[in-house]
Amino acid sequence: MNLILRQVLRVSALFLLVLAWIAAPAEAASAQTKLKVVTSITILQDIAHNVAGDAVELSSIVPTDGDAHEFEPTPDDIRKVADANLIFVNGAGLEGFINGLIADSGTQATVITASAGLPIREFGAEEEGEAHADELAAGYLGVSGSFDCGSHTHEEGEAEHGGCDPHLWQDPTNIIVYTINIRDALIAADPANADAYRSNAAKYIVALKELDKSIWQGISSIPVEKRILVTNHDALGYWVGRYGFQIAGIVLPGGGTSAEPSPQEVAALVDSIRQLGVPAIFTENIANNRLAQQIADEAGIQVVQSLYTDALSAADGPASTYLDMMTYNLKVIVSALGGSSS
Ligand SMILES: [Zn+2]
Repeated sequence: MNLILRQVLRVSALFLLVLAWIAAPAEAASAQTKLKVVTSITILQDIAHNVAGDAVELSSIVPTDGDAHEFEPTPDDIRKVADANLIFVNGAGLEGFINGLIADSGTQATVITASAGLPIREFGAEEEGEAHADELAAGYLGVSGSFDCGSHTHEEGEAEHGGCDPHLWQDPTNIIVYTINIRDALIAADPANADAYRSNAAKYIVALKELDKSIWQGISSIPVEKRILVTNHDALGYWVGRYGFQIAGIVLPGGGTSAEPSPQEVAALVDSIRQLGVPAIFTENIANNRLAQQIADEAGIQVVQSLYTDALSAADGPASTYLDMMTYNLKVIVSALGGSSS
């Protein structure tokens, strides 16, 4: 009896060992099959996170508070892109670094443009520094999403007109399209999780519509004649277009963050600020705000810190998700322009 029991125990132990040996590599394999998804900017990373949940491994190339316009990839970024299965880029000329990075990495990843299918605004549709309130009604060139914007590189001081405005995320209704593009790419790459991607995306689209509603609500408290912005770089064109604001001028010309205005452009912007009674210039988290301060001083108005324009904040900041970023920016704008935030 005793002997039989011991025999049974030994066989069971062996059986368990074999089981453990079979199970271990299986577990490792399932971790390996998690899709590796890389996004160009943190705003896309957050949108992708809302659609994918924890079903994929997710990382961004440009970090929080980083400037995509002037970004230079590191060897770490090359490795990240080389390992990726799926890469989400914004497109519309934002990521001047991306083609070189993809080529250098030799990646086999599928590259998806999140903004595909959306109409693209053109930079320089109005003359910078010579803004007149009646000419500033928001209206964008409806260039189709397949329009080739090229990469957004330019020489120092070179005026750049007619380039694509890549900041489509500043209109939350555009992010509905981003969400759908990201959802469909995830489903194509990982059909086993299709149901989760579909239901997550549907929930996120509801949240985006709520965000849009709350922005309209916040803006309704700003007197109509005060709905005028001066921003540091030309990042809010889509926001302005969506919510019926006007742009009195932009501190850094050319749509990016590297060009500096000429003395004539500075003088024209100061004139425009005085003429239109603009109360503030908004600085931003990603770019040099030195000139914004200088122009505000010259025009005798305040500088308001700080809008989150092209990148999210770190996790402990006020704009660590896209929804938080848009809500935070609204609060800053509403309070600077004499509205009341609820
Ligand atoms: Zn930008």
